[in-house]
Amino acid sequence: MVTVKNASQIDAMRRAGAILRDTLSLLEEKTVAGISTKELDTIAYEYIKSQHAVPSFLHYDGFPASVCISVDEEVVHGIPSKHRIVQAGMLVKLDCGVGIDGVHTDAARTVCVGNVSSEKRKLAEVCKQSFFEGMKVLKEGTRLGTLGHAIQSYVESNGFSVVRDLVGHGIGTKVHEDPNVPNYGVEGRGMRMYSNMTIAVEPMINVGTHEVECLEDGWTIVTADGKPSAHYENTVAITPDGIEILTL
Ligand code: MG
Ligand code: MG
Repeated sequence: MVTVKNASQIDAMRRAGAILRDTLSLLEEKTVAGISTKELDTIAYEYIKSQHAVPSFLHYDGFPASVCISVDEEVVHGIPSKHRIVQAGMLVKLDCGVGIDGVHTDAARTVCVGNVSSEKRKLAEVCKQSFFEGMKVLKEGTRLGTLGHAIQSYVESNGFSVVRDLVGHGIGTKVHEDPNVPNYGVEGRGMRMYSNMTIAVEPMINVGTHEVECLEDGWTIVTADGKPSAHYENTVAITPDGIEILTL
């Protein structure tokens, strides 16, 4: 069931979104060679708590951390570990959620650590820009297929593929709500957006095949061909006169 949010819920999401934005900025700064992904997770947890907010992912469906940290061919849902040390040349995806007053926000960034290959750097840039290509068409009345098509066509015109098995989502009192928000689609198809819906738009794109697999830990999603993947996400409110990106 798709829900709309009232003004006080959107205001709480705006406040949570600002904390999430700052959490991710802090993590991006700290994502350098030599730090473990567990240390990054601890930094995020402590910062979110210091802001009197809730790390939305911690214990969500049993997830053991506040941030999903996925490296290179890992697409999403990587579990932070003290044994996973960030190294130059890695693409590190930081995906985090913050809640306040019973509502949540969700956002992700891809960090290029040190000198990454030109292919990885382009992948990260195209992923981020594909989100903004989607934003160019998103407003009240836009159909989901039109949004997905804008993202997909930009990604594919740059020679990369869009993950199909994982999609964006509605968000609010729960981290994952209806509707599904695919990063692919057919223009003019799918449900229409309406005012005061809040959705997480999150292109996940790959250098090679769009196919993905889940590792034996039951969480980590990896590309089927082992080639790199990038992720970029923000929580967005549809407003009467356009959109408001709540996590930027
Ligand atoms: Mg996310
Ligand atoms: Mg999400």
